[in-house]
Amino acid sequence: MYFVHPARCEACWYFKNIANKLSLLIYVAAPRIIMQCVVCSTPQLQGLTDWHISCSACGYEGSALTVKINAQPEGAPVDELEREVGLKSLRQENFRDILSVVLKHVKPGARRLLDVGCAHGWFLETARAHFDVLGVEPDSVVGSRTASRGLPVRPGYFPDALTPDESFDVIVFNDVIEHIPDIASALDACNARLSENGLLVLNLPNSRGFFYRLSKIFARLGWRNPFNRLWQKDLPSPPTFIISIHAIWNCSWPSMAS
Ligand SMILES: [Zn+2]
Repeated sequence: MYFVHPARCEACWYFKNIANKLSLLIYVAAPRIIMQCVVCSTPQLQGLTDWHISCSACGYEGSALTVKINAQPEGAPVDELEREVGLKSLRQENFRDILSVVLKHVKPGARRLLDVGCAHGWFLETARAHFDVLGVEPDSVVGSRTASRGLPVRPGYFPDALTPDESFDVIVFNDVIEHIPDIASALDACNARLSENGLLVLNLPNSRGFFYRLSKIFARLGWRNPFNRLWQKDLPSPPTFIISIHAIWNCSWPSMAS
């Protein structure tokens, strides 16, 4: 299993070196403890809003915002056609970069690739020259539109949309894993569905990004709109977490075997 990133794993470094030392202090000094961090088990504190949660040990940030895929009302805030026009070229460029990383690290002979939450199918289109690809997409409108272009898309959620015997050499989450509420179960499912020496690719937001850090400064000063937008507040599928790493090489999630 791999998280894709050239940097060392800061989350694990913090976990091993700081979290245990700070946990008792946090319990004593901070009264607004909400839950334990899913990454390092340190108590999490209420963050910048009543739905924002922050771990002072590893940098994990979570939200209590709810996911409402397939429940957009009339006049919904997201126009997928407009989003496609606005994002396509940028996403395709990013996906070519991700594919180059996949090809560099995938085991010899790897063929089967699963794209979880494939949306418009742009990564499927990028990867299918090298792999037998399959997409899973829970948004029925977006998934149907993608399938109508001849791409192999299965409706539903990972892993329920898969047949019991399906496994893959590569499983990819492009801006998807952070939207899954039960990340431990999702990663356990990846562990079960990956072939031996398979590759797990997590392309996800980074709380150390410039614009996110700037939005937090604005939020502390009382202007929350940029912070709310980056967390996709009031949109159908807001993220449940953001972590303070670019990604991780050769680093196992705490609930998984390496
Ligand atoms: Zn943590």
